[in-house]
Amino acid sequence: MAHYQGLIHRYRDRLPVSENTPIVSLNEGNTPLIELQRLPRQVGFDGRILVKFEGLNPTGSFKDRGMTMAVTKALEEGSRAIICASTGNTSAAAAAYAARAGMTSFVLIPEGKIALGKLAQAMMHGAVVIQIQGNFDDGMRLVQEISADMPVALVNSVNPYRLQGQKTVAFEVLEALGQAPDYHVLPVGNAGNISAHWMGYCEATGQQTAACGYCNGHCPYHAESLQGVKRPIMLGYQAAGSAPFLRGGPVSSPETVATAIRIGNPMSWSLAWAAVKESAGWFEECTDAEILAAQALLARTEGIFCEPSSATSLAGLIKDVARGKIKAGSTVVATLTGHGLKDPDTAIAQSQRPHIVAAEKGPIAELIGKFL
Ligand SMILES: *Cc1c(COP(=O)(O)O)cnc(C)c1O
Repeated sequence: MAHYQGLIHRYRDRLPVSENTPIVSLNEGNTPLIELQRLPRQVGFDGRILVKFEGLNPTGSFKDRGMTMAVTKALEEGSRAIICASTGNTSAAAAAYAARAGMTSFVLIPEGKIALGKLAQAMMHGAVVIQIQGNFDDGMRLVQEISADMPVALVNSVNPYRLQGQKTVAFEVLEALGQAPDYHVLPVGNAGNISAHWMGYCEATGQQTAACGYCNGHCPYHAESLQGVKRPIMLGYQAAGSAPFLRGGPVSSPETVATAIRIGNPMSWSLAWAAVKESAGWFEECTDAEILAAQALLARTEGIFCEPSSATSLAGLIKDVARGKIKAGSTVVATLTGHGLKDPDTAIAQSQRPHIVAAEKGPIAELIGKFL
C-alpha cells in the first residue's frame, strides 16, 4: 500500500472532490486512538476510555481535517486568498494550508486572548494576522461581511467543506474499533466539530441526520445493508463561562481559560442540537478548574498533553461518570482536539516551578532522594 497521503486521498469517494480536484494536503488525519490505562480507574469508571488524539495533526489540532478540504475547494474554485476568524487553531491551520497552496491568508484573532503557540504558527506561516479589539464572535461577523464583498474565500466552519473534512474522524474511529463506541464525547465551541462527528457516524452507518449536507441520503454509505447499525451517544461539553448550549441562547461576553471554545454565538447551533437529540445525548458544562484538573490528570497519569479546550471532553466525562450518567462497562471515545504545546502559558501557570539548585552532585542527589 502507498504511504498515507492525507484524508482526502484516503476517503475521496466520500468527499465532494473529483479526479481533477487539486488536493492541498499536509497528510492530516490518521491520528492515533489511544486507550487510557490508568485514568478510568482513577476516576471511578468501570469501562473503556479511548482518546482520539487530534493534537497529532500537522498543525496540532483537528482543524487540519476541515482546512485540507476548505483550501482544496477554494483553490479548485480559483480563489487566490482565504480569510477566517479564529480563536487560534483555525488561523494556524488556515495559514499553513494557504502556504502549502501558495495562497494568501488573512486571519482575524481576538486581541490578547489567543494561545501563544497558535499565534506563532499563524505568523510563521506568513498569514496576515489581524488582531481585532473584540472577541471571536465579532471576528466571525466581520469575516462574513468582508468575504461577501471581497475576493477572499471564507474558511470558517460555516464553509460546508470544513465539516466534510472533519467528518472523517468518525470513519477512523469506526475502522479502529470495528464498531461505534457507546459514547463519543467532545468539547463544543462553534459546534462544527460535534456536528461533523455526527455526520460522519451517520453516513458511515447508513443513517440520515439533519446534519448530512453533502450526500442527502443518496451516497453509497446510506446503503440498506447498514440501516440500523449502532451510532454513539454524543455528549457535548462546554466551559461554564462560555456555554450557550446550556443557557439556551447566545452568551454575550464568553470567558474561559479554554480559549479555543471561548465562543458565545456558535455557528453550527442547529446541527449540534440535531447531533445531541438524534443520538439521545446531552450538553454539559465544566468550570475552568475542572478543565485544568482534567488536563493535568491526563498529562500525569497517561502521558498525553492536550490543550485546555480539549481536556473539556474528559472533564465533562469525569463529571457525568460521577453522576452515574455513563453506563458501566461501556466504551467511550473522547476527542482531544488540540495539542498541549499550543498553550504553554496555561500549562506552566498551573505546574510546579523547576527546582533551582547548584550545579553540584550533592544538592541534586539530596533533592532526588526526597522523591524516591
Ligand atoms: C476549534 C476547537 C474546538 C471547538 O470546536 P468547534 O467545532 O468550534 O466546536 C475545541 N478544541 C480545540 C482545540 C479547537 O481548536
